[in-house]
Amino acid sequence: MIRAGVYIHIPFCRARCSYCDFATGTYEGALAESYVRALAYEIDSFGAGRERAEVDTIYFGGGTPSLLTPAQVAHILGAVHRIFNVADGAEVTMEMNPGTVTREGLHGFRESGVNRASFGAQTFDDRELKRLGRTHTAEDTRRTLALLREVGFDNISFDLIAGLPAQTLSAWSRNLEEALTLRPQHLSLYLLEVHEGTPLAAQIREGRYHAPDADLAAEMYSLLAERTQSAGYEQYEISNFCLPGHESRHNMKYWTGEPYFGFGCSAHSFDGRALRWSNERDARRYVELIETRASAVIDKTELDERDASAEALFLGLRLLARGVNLSEHLARFRRDVRAEYAEDLSRFSEAGLIEFDGDILRLTPAGALLSNEVFSVFV
Ligand code: SF4
Repeated sequence: MIRAGVYIHIPFCRARCSYCDFATGTYEGALAESYVRALAYEIDSFGAGRERAEVDTIYFGGGTPSLLTPAQVAHILGAVHRIFNVADGAEVTMEMNPGTVTREGLHGFRESGVNRASFGAQTFDDRELKRLGRTHTAEDTRRTLALLREVGFDNISFDLIAGLPAQTLSAWSRNLEEALTLRPQHLSLYLLEVHEGTPLAAQIREGRYHAPDADLAAEMYSLLAERTQSAGYEQYEISNFCLPGHESRHNMKYWTGEPYFGFGCSAHSFDGRALRWSNERDARRYVELIETRASAVIDKTELDERDASAEALFLGLRLLARGVNLSEHLARFRRDVRAEYAEDLSRFSEAGLIEFDGDILRLTPAGALLSNEVFSVFV
C-alpha cells in the first residue's frame, strides 16, 4: 500500500539568518496563533468530501517549528488525525533550532506525537555561526542535543552547511569530527548558496566575504562522504547520510515519487501521479485567504508523461545506492531511458559519472559530486 506524507510549513524564526531566502519571517505571537488556526482549517477543508488517505510521515518544516507551543502543535496534529488515517509508528519530524527549546517544551512535543528531531546545527564554530547571522552557539547545539536525548528522542538529524564565508578545509574537518562524535542518527549536508536579495549577497558584493569556492566545497563534500562512511553512516542520498535504518522516511517520498500533501504558506503537494500544486508564499496573505474561505493554492501543474519521467529519473538518481530501475521506469512511464538519452548516457558513462548494473542506473561517487551536470540533461 502506498502511503502519503504530510508536510506542514511553519514560517517563523527567532531572527533572520544572513543567507536565508525561505518563506519565513520573525516570530509574532498573534500571527502564529491565527496561522495555526488557519492551518487546522486548511487541513480540515482538504479532507471534506475526499476519501481518507493513508499517511505514515508528518513533517513540520520551516522556519523554526519549535517556536510553536506544544498545544499549537497538538492542535495541528489533531486536524491531521481527523482527516488522514495516520499509521501506527508514523514518523513525525519537527525541525528545531538549537537554543529555541526547553525541556518542558520537548516533553510537550513528544507527548503530542513528535518522534524525530531535525535540527540546524550548521557548524560548531561560533565565529562561523555569527557570520551567518545565526542566533545560537555551538554550546546551544550540544545542550539541545543533550535535552533531546534526555526526554527520549532517539531519532535525531543534524543539518550542516559547507562552503561558509572564510571557512577552511581544516575548520570543516573539525566540524565534522564534532558532529560525528555526537553521533546523530542522520546528517544532512547543504552547500552554501548565495541568493540575491539576502544580506549575505550584499556582504559579498561589498567585498566583506569571498563568494563560496566550488572546488573547496567539492573537497568538503568528499571529506564528509569519507568520514561518515568510516563512522558507519550510509550515504543513501546525494546530501543525506544515516546510521543503518534511519533514512528520513518523509524525504524518501520526495525522491521516490510517492504522494505528499503540504499545508501552510509556500507548501507544495504532489498526488503521486502527475499533479503538483503549491500555496501562497506569504504568511499573512495565506492567513487572509484561509480566513476569507478562499483557497491558498496559487499554482497547479499537471506533468505530461515526458516531464513526469524526467522528474522521476533525476529524483531517483539522487538515491545513490538504489538508483533507478529502468524496466520499472519503462513500465510506469512508457519511456525507454536508454534509447531516449543514449548519447548523454554514453558520454556520462565514459566520464565515469554513471554506471549500469543490469537494469539499474546509478550515479558513481564522481557523478554524485557533479550531479547537477547529469541532471541538467533531464530538466
Ligand atoms: S533558521 Fe532557517 S529558516 Fe529561519 S532564517 Fe535561519 S535559515 Fe532561514
